[in-house]
Amino acid sequence: MNILVHETPRVTLGIAGFMENCIFCKIIKGEIENHKVFENENFIAFLDINPINPGHLDIVPKQHHGYIFDLPDDLYREIFEIAKKLSLPLQEVTKAKRIGMAVEGFGVDHVHLHLVPINKGNDLDPNRAKRATSEELGEMSEMIKNCLE
Ligand SMILES: [Zn+2]
Repeated sequence: MNILVHETPRVTLGIAGFMENCIFCKIIKGEIENHKVFENENFIAFLDINPINPGHLDIVPKQHHGYIFDLPDDLYREIFEIAKKLSLPLQEVTKAKRIGMAVEGFGVDHVHLHLVPINKGNDLDPNRAKRATSEELGEMSEMIKNCLE
């Protein structure tokens, strides 16, 4: 009898769970400038530099995982808890009708949940993303952080 074994792809991680040449691991290590609005033991959240709409946040686990459904259960739950927590200040600051969520992961192979202020259907289309200036991102991150406190 043939038994098919599904092998989960494994990646070799550094001592702290980082992966070489991963842009999000570099952000977490502080090697790349970013506009962080939230951080705890397991996650950080920062403004996407190519926002779909102003206020577009990425919530990222500090441990390198490629696929959201490969996250350990506790981190999987926590990423959605953080999304809920951050949705409130994000909506207050941007006055968006709703806060949408999207997870794809084809761009950067490190789990990130997009938390995006939206006002109508199809606002989550990634083709709408446009580069924001450092000033725009700086102002937005200050407003969100003030609202979180
Ligand atoms: Zn990574």
